[in-house]
Amino acid sequence: MAMIQIGEQQYRINNIFCVARNYHAHAKEMGSSIADEPMVFIKPNSAVLQAGAAIELPSWSSEVHHELELVAIMGEGGKNIPAADALTHVAGYALGLDLTARDVQAAAKKAGNPWTLAKGFDGSAVLTDFVAAEGVDSTAQVFDLKINGQLRQHANTRDMAFSVAELIAWISTKFTLQSGDLIYTGTPEGVGAIVAGDLLELEWAQVQLKASFAVCNA
Ligand code: MG
Repeated sequence: MAMIQIGEQQYRINNIFCVARNYHAHAKEMGSSIADEPMVFIKPNSAVLQAGAAIELPSWSSEVHHELELVAIMGEGGKNIPAADALTHVAGYALGLDLTARDVQAAAKKAGNPWTLAKGFDGSAVLTDFVAAEGVDSTAQVFDLKINGQLRQHANTRDMAFSVAELIAWISTKFTLQSGDLIYTGTPEGVGAIVAGDLLELEWAQVQLKASFAVCNA
């Protein structure tokens, strides 16, 4: 299983929680809105794809979308974690792509079926390296996705409907959070399809983090 290095500490990636809608403009572009509580789904931890690997598009989808997201990794787990304490449980942050087989997801939504295949296939949980959480104000981070040199998504975490602390608090009322759990905190607007030959560049200038991923067919 994939390991994460943050300073001297190593973490084994455990459960992967993802927030479906957390930026109003993205909810709107999906023809949806944000509810009173976060909407959370899970990817298997076999979906992780780390920096240095290429994104392989699954043959059974003809429309894989990028979703650029801030990702938190839990250092310390817990149940019913108060929002006021939640950020002390975070070991680090990365950028990630919640890759989504949008055609398969649309069919699942229509049929009332789960999103597991659309969201959880191999390589669908893309991750950059992590930076230590200490000193990172998760409510004021700005980051970008460029494809083939063109800006496609620009995120500012102040636009989140639910802050990282609120997400951790809510998730931990329903699921026991454990060390090594990841939380994909939702995407801003600008999602779209990627195709073989694309080069995706994720950049988080405030922490000097940059990673690029080539896209190919499986
Ligand atoms: Mg997402």
